[in-house]
Amino acid sequence: MQIEEFRAHGHQVIDWIADYLGTIESRPVLSQVEPGAIRAALPAHPPEEPESFDAVLADVDRIILPGITHWQHPAFFAYFPANASGPAILGDLLSSGLGVQGMLWATSPACTELEQLSLDWLAEMLGLPATFRSDGKGGGVIQDTASTSALVALLAALHRASGGATAERGIAAGRYTVYASTEAHSSVEKAVRMAGLGAAALRTIPADPKTLAMSPAALRDQLAADIEAGFTPAMIVATIGTTSTTAIDPVRDIGAIAREHNTWLHIDAAYAGVAAICPELRWILDGVADFADSFGTNPHKWLLTNFDCHAFWVADRAHLLGALSILPEYLRNAATASGDVVDYRDWHIQLGRRFRALKLWSVIRCYGISGLQHHIRTHVALAQEFAGWVAADNRFEITAPHPLSLVCFRLRADDDRNLELMQKLNSSGELYLTHTKVGGTVSLRLAIGGTLTERRHVERAWALIQAV
Ligand SMILES: *Cc1c(COP(=O)(O)O)cnc(C)c1O
Repeated sequence: MQIEEFRAHGHQVIDWIADYLGTIESRPVLSQVEPGAIRAALPAHPPEEPESFDAVLADVDRIILPGITHWQHPAFFAYFPANASGPAILGDLLSSGLGVQGMLWATSPACTELEQLSLDWLAEMLGLPATFRSDGKGGGVIQDTASTSALVALLAALHRASGGATAERGIAAGRYTVYASTEAHSSVEKAVRMAGLGAAALRTIPADPKTLAMSPAALRDQLAADIEAGFTPAMIVATIGTTSTTAIDPVRDIGAIAREHNTWLHIDAAYAGVAAICPELRWILDGVADFADSFGTNPHKWLLTNFDCHAFWVADRAHLLGALSILPEYLRNAATASGDVVDYRDWHIQLGRRFRALKLWSVIRCYGISGLQHHIRTHVALAQEFAGWVAADNRFEITAPHPLSLVCFRLRADDDRNLELMQKLNSSGELYLTHTKVGGTVSLRLAIGGTLTERRHVERAWALIQAV
């Protein structure tokens, strides 16, 4: 594609995205296609001769769009949002345009330094401690996802727990244990399995049936029993904002226990962490500054930054680097040898990395702290209002605390009725919500967090739910 052709199509694609976002409300939120339909509508074999980009875009309109579930639709209330924004899309486009691979400082100094700056900014905005800043002992890095950061944190934790032995000699299966509540995300178990510990090394700690937060007493007992039995507790994961209900584990109490046993404390705040930008919500991070060894949150969920962008910090980068750094001859360079620079390849699983800081930096600059606070506050206020409507209708009940922007509720009826209701709502195309189980029974989840979501969309959702 010649430059002028690229320019023309580029303008066309920006127009396409603007039109898409401008008219997104007219589309059914949840894709209604049958399995295999999209594939069947496309040629089975690649083209022998070059095709025009116009042909590609035409197929996106005709074939791909019907197979899209519109995550940016203002009535998308499922899972957690993956909210996007103009500044993030444009920042991402710049990153694609630069085509930089930022594995080393030397392979594009700006890629590393802008990432350090952006994560220092975000740490300051969240009120994270100075140890997490790049000029302290720790530092931040953009990972692809919270799942990756759970694994990376675990590898650093094992490195520390083993006095560096795991990097050399591997993990003696069955020796190390990991702790998370029954409400923790599945990525914790995945990390334990990927690290080679085996799922049996994960101790799931009961949660309080009312708050759904981890019970520190149960954690203490389990640790004591494991130590007694000869295990080494390597890591505790505390969740701030569980996926199911946004329950908040008591980090301060858990941290004190972790400290007592010199066990790594990782905080999974994938969804909720960014809410700490608002001073009135910063209580959710209580205990993090004093006890966390690592902390991760997803700007790609609730901070207007297109997927993927997970912000991950460690309080002491030595263990992370000890676990992950290897310097083959072909990557040696003067800047690395000087020790004056950070090479982010040592901070994650893969070698190569995109210039993701561009989108996060664009978002922080174009919204400003006040704009980002407004974004979070609006959703929290809408969720509280929605919860009030649900509570006032005695056919329904609220099933979990809802301090942020997720409300879990159910019809006072059996699970099947609740699942039927969800099915009916989702197949209407007017909104999309998902379910979970709270205390063994089905709850519906309304997660408010779309960039385009306004009060009228939540009102409409409630009207549709009430019309059961
Ligand atoms: C969404 C979520 C994750 C997983 O997020 P990815 O970035 O997709 O890996 C992990 N933990 C919690 C609490 C989540 O809500």
